[in-house]
Amino acid sequence: MNNQIIDQLVEIVGKKHVLHTPEDLAVYSYDGTFAEGLPDVVVLPASTEEVSQVVKVAAANQIPIIARGMASGLAAGSIPVTSGGIVVSLTRMNKILEIDTQNATVRAEAGVITAILQAEVEKTGLFYPPDPSSIKHSTIGGNIACNAGGPRCLKYGVTGDYVLGLKVVLADGQVLETGGKPIKDVTGYDLKSLFTGSEGTLGIITEALLRLVAKPRYAKTALAEFASLDDASRTVNAILLAGIVPATLELMDQTALTCIEEAMHLGLNTDLGASLIIETDGTDEQTVLSEIEACARICEETGAQTVKMAKNETERANLWRARRSISPALARRSPNKLGEDITVPRSAIPEVVKLLRGISAKYGLQIVIFGHAGDGNLHPNILFDKRDPEQWKAVEQMVAEIFDAALSVGGTLSGEHGVGVLKRPYLEKALGPISVTVQRSIKQALDPQNILNPGKMFIS
Ligand SMILES: Cc1cc2nc3c(=O)[nH]c(=O)nc-3n(C[C@H](O)[C@H](O)[C@H](O)COP(=O)(O)OP(=O)(O)OC[C@H]3O[C@@H](n4cnc5c(N)ncnc54)[C@H](O)[C@@H]3O)c2cc1C
Repeated sequence: MNNQIIDQLVEIVGKKHVLHTPEDLAVYSYDGTFAEGLPDVVVLPASTEEVSQVVKVAAANQIPIIARGMASGLAAGSIPVTSGGIVVSLTRMNKILEIDTQNATVRAEAGVITAILQAEVEKTGLFYPPDPSSIKHSTIGGNIACNAGGPRCLKYGVTGDYVLGLKVVLADGQVLETGGKPIKDVTGYDLKSLFTGSEGTLGIITEALLRLVAKPRYAKTALAEFASLDDASRTVNAILLAGIVPATLELMDQTALTCIEEAMHLGLNTDLGASLIIETDGTDEQTVLSEIEACARICEETGAQTVKMAKNETERANLWRARRSISPALARRSPNKLGEDITVPRSAIPEVVKLLRGISAKYGLQIVIFGHAGDGNLHPNILFDKRDPEQWKAVEQMVAEIFDAALSVGGTLSGEHGVGVLKRPYLEKALGPISVTVQRSIKQALDPQNILNPGKMFIS
């Protein structure tokens, strides 16, 4: 990148916050995937105004600009993939600006870590429910850009359900403010929803106004263990059809349980086929208790071998530690893993599990299955060794077949990780040509020079 542009960036954010040595650039060249791509320069602005000025420099020189939160993304969305460009790291913009207890809202800068925002909000008796497993190492901006989900989204909804307003720097550097504290607002197009899930391709989110709810006072958690993954998957729908909406309904297969147990020594039963973590919550203790008991009864009817209730907060916390540690725990089993994020209609979970098993058997590579089963959102993880070219070739074919399996039962490619780079080739198959054309027109209208996160979502 030429020195003139570096000088302009230094003038905007200060020398300390413009990184361009090879060592610094390497740090910003990857995320939670295998993808890699070096930026030309990284800037760490401290305000919306600074982001706006940086984008104006990029626009004037037609330089790609890639927004980055904590880079925990699982779709290579924050990696420069076309030709370098300016990575805008939002991590210095980490202030919680206002918690309005009267209107139950929080206003925060995009770089706030989600777990920190949650903890601050909970001190006031309010609650921000979206809980991606990466909660301690992802940002509110990244969560909004990917419309992140998590275990609790079964009852409470995804990140987008909590976005009331956004401040967004557009492709020409203008600052758009959209939405606000009114809960109902149909004045014009719903722009906040357009930017939610747009993966940095339509604008850079610098601030968010988020809806809060009352903090549930009671929670009951159970671990239901099943002889087979089929029994566990059938149980998911049986619980929901009974009219109970637990806060979470998380599925883990035997390999996932074994890997967690090997890593964490929590006393999980690794002899059985699968487990469900079920949690009910609310403000009335008796209702919460009767709901978890009803879930336990259904589990027993559908073949659970055991249903263990967490007896205290430590046991409950251990179950969630187990669930949250699946991804790192799987790393002990094989040199590499590739996690997908398909979502299917809930009734199709048993069918898609069967198809995933078939794919695994066909290629001789293990697929570990876990995920937010209550939402029909499964994370099939292929375990393999990337150093073996044959295995890597097989993995690429398996991914295509996993997507086909999801689509064949009426599902979709991604429930929460987004498209980024990795799912681009499958976008048209999933959405159809008309939807892709409409989406391209939106991108063209908002970013005619294609400088915002180019090479993501769409092939060019
Ligand atoms: C162990 C692990 C567990 C995970 N569990 C979950 C889970 O349960 N649920 C889930 O949904 N995801 C999960 N993820 C994926 C990831 O954490 C989420 O996608 C998260 O929302 C990304 O946030 P981030 O701050 O790391 O964003 P990044 O990875 O930095 O960026 C992700 C995308 O958002 C864009 N972006 C980032 N910030 C902004 C901004 N301010 N404005 C515009 N665009 C922006 C980037 O350009 C990129 O396209 C997990 C990841 C890991 C590694």
